[in-house]
Amino acid sequence: MLDVQDLGIRFGGLHAVKDVTASIPAGQITAIIGPNGAGKSTFFNLISGFYQPTTGSIRFAGEDITRLKTHEVVSRGIARTFQTTTIYRELSVLENAMIGHRVRTRAGLLDALLRTGRERRDEQGSRDGAMQALTRVGLARQAHLPAGALTQEGQKRVGIAMALASDPKLLLLDEPAAGMNPEETVNLMSLIRELVAGGLTVALVEHKMSLVMGLADQIVVLHHGQKIAGGTPAQVSRDPAVIEAYLGG
Ligand code: ADP
Ligand code: MG
Repeated sequence: MLDVQDLGIRFGGLHAVKDVTASIPAGQITAIIGPNGAGKSTFFNLISGFYQPTTGSIRFAGEDITRLKTHEVVSRGIARTFQTTTIYRELSVLENAMIGHRVRTRAGLLDALLRTGRERRDEQGSRDGAMQALTRVGLARQAHLPAGALTQEGQKRVGIAMALASDPKLLLLDEPAAGMNPEETVNLMSLIRELVAGGLTVALVEHKMSLVMGLADQIVVLHHGQKIAGGTPAQVSRDPAVIEAYLGG
């Protein structure tokens, strides 16, 4: 579904991501792992158009998306969450999800500014899309609560709903289990499995090895910006280069 070829970006002298070639197959769960500072979030920032790569290419569903802007990437069907939850605490859960839905249609925003008749249809469409996303993450009944009133786990789900509201084919999750206790982590794993069973493709960055090993179909290991290993959880967990990266620093 997604293929990156020789992907790289430099920040000054630092190769945050360097010559990474990897695929994210449709209908599967791909985990991106690696020590802190390995380039995992940067990799997601490149795919989602937040950063423009210095080298390489990104293809999604047969189309070259290397130079697209973030909203163009979203409209192609790629959505992401952020490592730190970026929800609007004072707004309702539903309003948060609606913001996620609107990101898909910049034209809709322009129309809204010009106050055309389409504005009201967009409003209704974005409400429906947002409610569907909330239903998928189990928050339909909390839709009218302020997002800040939810538990931390609930707020994480709001973040996922904001991404789902753009109706993506590929969902990128950056450390979705960060700060979660074991029970919340198990719930999150069930949610991700349900989303994939419903046809979504998921790639996630995660530190919790129990989650990665229990969930991922395949793993890509980054270290100092480079891909040092890839394969099934079983293959990766006995790869000497991976063991060295984690133990040797
Ligand atoms: P990870 O998510 O694997 O912990 P990151 O992708 O966040 O790592 O960062 C990889 C490296 O790139 C780090 O050394 C980080 O400091 C650097 N980096 C990330 N984003 C920027 C940026 N916008 N400007 C400069 N350096 C950055
Ligand atoms: Mg990161």
